[in-house]
Amino acid sequence: MTFEQLGLSQPVLQALDLKGYNTPTPIQEQAIPPVLEGRDLLGIAQTGTGKTAAFMLPSIDRLRDAERQTPFKSCRMLVLAPTRELAGQIAQSAKDYGALAGLKVQSIVGGTSVSKDRNKLHRGTDILVATPGRLLDLIDQKAFGLGGVEILVLDEADQMLDLGFIHALRKISQLVPKERQTLFFSATMPKQIKDLVGQYCHNPVQVSV
Ligand code: AMP
Repeated sequence: MTFEQLGLSQPVLQALDLKGYNTPTPIQEQAIPPVLEGRDLLGIAQTGTGKTAAFMLPSIDRLRDAERQTPFKSCRMLVLAPTRELAGQIAQSAKDYGALAGLKVQSIVGGTSVSKDRNKLHRGTDILVATPGRLLDLIDQKAFGLGGVEILVLDEADQMLDLGFIHALRKISQLVPKERQTLFFSATMPKQIKDLVGQYCHNPVQVSV
């Protein structure tokens, strides 16, 4: 199986070439086609499986296809991650894969200057990678809104719960538009996670690696 056979566009294939990735990993093979079709996804996968590219590559193609403008003080794709480190890695991947597609990427995480984040987000961004607490702070301050979100990703949802983000996640689920695509990743599936999946996803394709 090649990335081309999975249905990805030329700019994304070129970005993969630059990174030197030739063969999709199992989660990429399973996840990319349904995400390109616009389906919701439940991915049960650990870090190291290539899950970041599994959600980022087809999402970038969906954003390119829709050709919407960057929304003011909002974003088109929101990726929620538990930690600063993971958010940084995801934002870097989004920059690598999205560079040739001309998409703007920003990340906001706790423990940094809120006023800098406010400035960064004032004009909106195409892809935002955020930790849930900092994102809600900015929303409470009316510095940012979720009205533009077309694609929502929850990465390492079980870690986000372990870090006490359950209330933040419940709140965010009420603020995103109903018409959207949701990609939900967790390494484990305890009951609390299943409940969150029910709250966030609509008839998701389930992939497990
Ligand atoms: P992740 O599970 O998303 O954290 O990815 C694990 C590592 O695998 C990262 O360093 C990626 O850059 C790398 N990676 C992802 N997809 C591929 C691929 N298809 N071929 C080779 N390396 C990859």
